[in-house]
Amino acid sequence: MERTIQINQASTLYVGRAAELLDRVLPVGRTVVITDANIDRLYPSLVRRFDHIIVGQGEGCKSLQTVDRVYRELMALGADRSTFILGIGGGIVTDIAGFVAATYMRGVEFGFVSTTLLGQVDASIGGKNGVNVADYKNMVGTFRQPRFVIMDVEMLRTLPKRELRAGMAEVVKSAIIADAALFERLERCGESVYNTTEDMQEVMLGAVAVKARIVAEDEREGGVRRLLNLGHTLGHAIEKCTHDVNHGEAVAIGMSLIAHAAVRRGMMVESEAMRVDGLLRQLGFNLELPLDICDVLREVKYDKKKRDNLLRVVFPVKIGECRVAELSFSEFEQLFK
Ligand code: NAD
Repeated sequence: MERTIQINQASTLYVGRAAELLDRVLPVGRTVVITDANIDRLYPSLVRRFDHIIVGQGEGCKSLQTVDRVYRELMALGADRSTFILGIGGGIVTDIAGFVAATYMRGVEFGFVSTTLLGQVDASIGGKNGVNVADYKNMVGTFRQPRFVIMDVEMLRTLPKRELRAGMAEVVKSAIIADAALFERLERCGESVYNTTEDMQEVMLGAVAVKARIVAEDEREGGVRRLLNLGHTLGHAIEKCTHDVNHGEAVAIGMSLIAHAAVRRGMMVESEAMRVDGLLRQLGFNLELPLDICDVLREVKYDKKKRDNLLRVVFPVKIGECRVAELSFSEFEQLFK
């Protein structure tokens, strides 16, 4: 069944079959697709109806060099200010496509078909489009809302299991931030959520609704949007220090660590932190920190969200409610020693 969520007047999220939705929501006129080779191979009928540009895969490709190449290909295709850019892919593709669209000829309209769970519940929603510079993630970017985002749960069937699980960490995050009922549903489903289309669609929608609500309230991350960083202060640091842990796996460990830190600060009862661990393990996450906490903390020190020497840390206070606290680095460090 098709569902829509309105973020603001400019942007609509559609959950349903991608091909049918595209026929309805694409504006009249020229469309150029930006995608990657996996999507082109798996979904040629979505991609090859249009002129298309293929970008590389992995964080290394989410760069200004790629953006420059895409600009040149758009120029070679004769794309002008009336051209609509359609990003079809995961977060890497939609970040590149959004950034290109926001800047090409001072900005053209764009939309996404988001094809990973992480993309559907997080990367494609909210209008942040960024690329990496040197080793720093999302250092350059724009705030600009896509006209639409299409999320087709059927497309997740071709996604490798590990990628699917990575996206599930962000679903759990949304549940802890603002939706206790979603958390309970995940507890009831457990591992079977990965194999049941209806459950997958419902939990995806639940997480999308949380992010959409938060983004509509705070488009530029001045307040409530910071809650979406739950688990990410430590998660980013873990991701940076290791090679074999992906973003979702690192965020899962980060959420577990911060939930127990919240218990030590007297902000949350221990049984709630145990529920966080229990659900993440049920969903297949390994919560063992794969390196020394001191290495992780050293990396946190350089967290770019640090301002006036203070870290803005998101703590859960119960399932479905979180709070942001400002801590000096040494106060933060003490929570883990
Ligand atoms: P990704 O885009 O790298 O996709 C993962 C892999 O899955 C790729 O190899 C891709 O080709 C493949 N793939 C995609 N869809 C598929 C499908 N349906 N079937 C089979 N294979 C498929 O990874 P991701 O996790 O989607 O996105 C990560 C990126 O998102 C990071 O760069 C991160 O910074 C960014 N992000 C952005 C925001 C934002 O607000 N802009 C938020 C969160 C994350």
